[in-house]
Amino acid sequence: MLKLTNTLTGASETFTPADGGTVRLYTCGPTVHDFAHIGNFRTYVFEDVLRRHLKSKWKVVHVMNITDIDDKIIRKATEKGIDIRQYTAPYTAAFFEDSARLRIEKPEVITAATDYIPEMIDLVDRLLASGHAYREGNSIYFRISSFPAYGRLSRLDHRELKVGARIDADEYEKEQPNDFVLWKGPKDDTETRWEAPFGTGRPGWHLECSAMAMKQLGETLDIHCGGVDNIFPHHENEIAQSEAVTSKPFSRFWLHGEHLLIENEKMAKSKGNFFTLRDLLEKGYNAQAIRYLLLSVQYRKQLNFTFAGLEQAQRSLDRIKEFLFRLRTPKLAPGSTPELTRAVVAASAQFEAGLDDDLNTAQALAAVFDLIRACNIALDKEQLREGDRAEVLAWLAEVDTRLAILPVAEERASNDDEIENLIAQRNDARRNRNFAESDRIRQELLNRDIVIEDTREGTKWRRK
Ligand SMILES: [Zn+2]
Repeated sequence: MLKLTNTLTGASETFTPADGGTVRLYTCGPTVHDFAHIGNFRTYVFEDVLRRHLKSKWKVVHVMNITDIDDKIIRKATEKGIDIRQYTAPYTAAFFEDSARLRIEKPEVITAATDYIPEMIDLVDRLLASGHAYREGNSIYFRISSFPAYGRLSRLDHRELKVGARIDADEYEKEQPNDFVLWKGPKDDTETRWEAPFGTGRPGWHLECSAMAMKQLGETLDIHCGGVDNIFPHHENEIAQSEAVTSKPFSRFWLHGEHLLIENEKMAKSKGNFFTLRDLLEKGYNAQAIRYLLLSVQYRKQLNFTFAGLEQAQRSLDRIKEFLFRLRTPKLAPGSTPELTRAVVAASAQFEAGLDDDLNTAQALAAVFDLIRACNIALDKEQLREGDRAEVLAWLAEVDTRLAILPVAEERASNDDEIENLIAQRNDARRNRNFAESDRIRQELLNRDIVIEDTREGTKWRRK
C-alpha cells in the first residue's frame, strides 16, 4: 500500500490511480533560460524515484512541460538579439543531457509551452466567458475573488485577499494573493507574440501547465509534483484557472520536494555556492554519486548538500561496487542457504515498505546495505552458494530499476534503449499472434544475455 503526503490535505493518504490501472502524473519541468542547478535536480531525482516506484505497481503516463517562454527568457533572448527558440534550444538539450547523466528517465510526454498556444488561448477564452478572467489594458487577468477555494493548497489567509490587486510578473515571492496575468499584451514591438481573439500577446507562465496537463491527461490528474517553491503562486494559480473552467479537482494528489541547502545555506549566485550539475562534474565528482546523495534523503526533508556528503556518497557507491565484484568472482557451491534466502526476502520487504512509506529512500538504501553486510559475512564464512548469488543479483537488479544507483548499471546502460525496443517489437509480434517472430526475438535477447519474463505488470528484463 503506497502512502503519499498530499500537500492539499497535509495528510498521508493511500494512493491508487483513479482508474485502477494507469497513473496520470504531471511534473513541472524546467524553464530553459539557463542550465538547471543542483537544487532543481533534487526535485527531478525525487520525481524520478516516484515515477519508478509507481511503475513497479501500475502503468504510468508522465507528462512534463518545458517552459520555453517567460519573462526571463524574453529578457535574455532580447539582450542577445536572437529569437526565443534560438535562445532556449541549447538549454533544453543541456537539460536532457544532464538528466540522462543522473539516470533520470524521460517522461512519456514532453510538452513545450510554445507548442500549446491554441490550447492556452482556448482556456483564456473559457475563463473570460465564465467571468473568471477580465481585461485590463492589453492584458488578461484571472480574478481570484471569483474562485473561493483560492489559497487552499498554500493555506493563504483569505482575509488578505485584495480585490483587484494585479501582478504581471511570471514569478513572485510575496505571500500575497493577487489577480495574476493569464495573457500579456506585448510591451514593445520586438516581443514574441501570438494572435488571439482577445488580443495579440503571449501567455503568462502559470497558464501553460493547466493547458498542457488537461490536454494530455484529462481534467483530473492523479499526481501533480513540483518543488516547494512552486506551491505559491504557481500551483495555486494552476488550480484556480483549471478548476474555474472544469469545476473538477485539477489533481487528486499534490507532492512537493523540499529545498536543498548547500553547506547549510540557501543556494545563491551572490554567495558563490550556486552549482549546476556541470559545475560539479567539472570539479571531478561523479554523476552517480550526485544522484545517490540527492536521493539519500526523503524528498519531504530538507537536504543539506555538502562536499563531505558527496564524498561519503561516493564511498557508499564504492562499497556496492566492491561487493558486486566480490559476489560475482568466486566459484561457489551449488544450492542455496535458507539464511540467505530469508535475508533477501527481509531486505526486499524493508525496501518496498520504505518506498511505500512516502518514498522513504533512506530506509530503502538501508535495506540494500543490510543485505550486503549479511552477504559479506556469508562470503567470509564460505557459506554463500550459487543459488544465493543468483537471488541477490536478481534483487539488486530490481533495486537498480527503482533507484538507479548501482555503479555496474551505469557502465552497461548504453544499450538499454535497444533492448527495450526489441522487447516492444516482441510484444507487438505476440499481440499479432506471430509467435515465430516473438520466439526469434526472445532468442536474440538471450544471445545477448538478456532474460525476459512476462508478468502481469508487463514484460520485465534483466541481464544474466
Ligand atoms: Zn507548472
